[in-house]
Amino acid sequence: MSHEILTALGLGESQSGTYLGNGEWSTTTDAGTLRPVNPATGEVIASVHASSKADYETIVERAQAAFKIWRTTPAPRRGEAIRLCGEALRRHKDALGSLVALEMGKIKPEGDGEVQEMIDIADFAVGQSRMLYGYTMHSERPGHRMYEQWHPLGLVGIISAFNFPVAVWSWNAFLAAVCGDICIWKPSPKTPLSAVATMRICNEALRAGGFPDIFFLFNDAGTELSQAFVDDTRIPLISFTGSTRVGRLVGERVARRMGRSLLELGGNNAIIVDQSADLKLAIPAIVFGAVGTAGQRCTTTRRLIVHESIIDEVTDRLVAAYKQVETKIGDPTLPTTLMGPLNSPEAVQGYLQAIEKAKAAGGTVRTGGAALTDRKGNFVLPTIITGLENSDEVVQTETFAPILYVMPFKTLDEAIELQNGVPQGLSSAIFTQNLKAAEQYLSAAGSDCGIANVNIGTSGAEIGGAFGGEKETGGGRESGSDAWKAYMRRQTNTINYSDALPLAQGIKFTV
Ligand code: NAD
Repeated sequence: MSHEILTALGLGESQSGTYLGNGEWSTTTDAGTLRPVNPATGEVIASVHASSKADYETIVERAQAAFKIWRTTPAPRRGEAIRLCGEALRRHKDALGSLVALEMGKIKPEGDGEVQEMIDIADFAVGQSRMLYGYTMHSERPGHRMYEQWHPLGLVGIISAFNFPVAVWSWNAFLAAVCGDICIWKPSPKTPLSAVATMRICNEALRAGGFPDIFFLFNDAGTELSQAFVDDTRIPLISFTGSTRVGRLVGERVARRMGRSLLELGGNNAIIVDQSADLKLAIPAIVFGAVGTAGQRCTTTRRLIVHESIIDEVTDRLVAAYKQVETKIGDPTLPTTLMGPLNSPEAVQGYLQAIEKAKAAGGTVRTGGAALTDRKGNFVLPTIITGLENSDEVVQTETFAPILYVMPFKTLDEAIELQNGVPQGLSSAIFTQNLKAAEQYLSAAGSDCGIANVNIGTSGAEIGGAFGGEKETGGGRESGSDAWKAYMRRQTNTINYSDALPLAQGIKFTV
């Protein structure tokens, strides 16, 4: 199975992880080897050779040269390049979606869905390439015109997480490319094959269309090269997606060199269910939000805040639904599977430790609470825990696994306070049929998250809206609205077409 998927994407059992440009993949074999593992079986899928310092230097030098051409290529023409990438991804959707499922462990429809997101952002970026608008301002000085324009930034570094091994790259790379930037990608060491396949698909499409190299790739066997990347003053923007712990390090280092960072970090997302909620909508949304991708989405629902009058009913219905999911845990590449494995044995340990901590803090495991040791792979049961306080350390922490903490509330004010009472601020939702409650929730005194939904869950964002969150989620926004501005530099221009030289603010300066 894995052999077929690799072959369909032109990948071998031993693979270079470095795209150097000019159609060349590095021949380096002595900079370490990544061995991505199928999380459903524990078997190594293939080997990927990591990149050397010399490879990295070649990439940066070629990227700098490419930028000189790309920055003055008309933006709609740059959009055409991304249109070709989107078309190529359409053709390879099935195979790439399967590879994502195989290597990351998400189920096949979610793997395909991730590739669909890449196609959607490609379409979005093509349109955006004709809409890199700046304002025109009215000058206070006669005979003057003032306006702003947006110029390409330069080289954009993209460091991505294992759980969205391809979509996050495209959110950044496709917008950055239409903005005139050149992208260098450092993917997760857990999912290098998905990255190599993506590079092949897009770069072959670009070359066939007569476009220069705009996307480069390197892989790091440790973190030395990644840290050099973060510190590299030739790279004005580092877009980092990953844990808050690593994101904090990256943000600090980039700030020290006065670079820009775009941070997309951890979440601790809650759904509020009030007494008027339509449970026909709420229950499946909670199950999908908490169990989908085996709880390994940044937008996974981790806390459920339910009105005390319906908490028993909601919990019972969820437990029944979880029992259904339990019967469909398995190989993520099979169409019948609803929940795949966790990505690594370490993640299983993290899951088990969180459950122990929850029990020690007085929590009750209502369903789940164990790893599946009767089979190979990193499988766990989806878990619901009641009886904890929002302030308990384990509830305040993002455990990247399918654990849902259910807590009661009495008033909406209290529910919003609980929801906002965590260090993270990514996604949030309320289920209510009460207009006043919905509006209060979306008001300035409501949810403090970057994403706030009504009658739809916390996960499964769509392209078009800006994606990202506040507080320890890092403040970055990607993939929609005016997120393109992060990849450009703004320049304010004043043109004097009069015969005088009036100064602003009426200042007189006669020489
Ligand atoms: P991680 O922080 O362990 O790794 C992320 C990336 O950082 C990887 O590519 C890794 O190799 C790299 N890295 C590690 N140390 C580094 C260093 N010192 N310098 C530079 N790079 C370094 O995260 P993960 O386990 O791959 O992903 C899961 C996390 O990502 C979760 O916290 C999840 O919420 C978050 N995430 C957030 C979003 C979002 O959009 N907000 C999206 C997906 C995932």
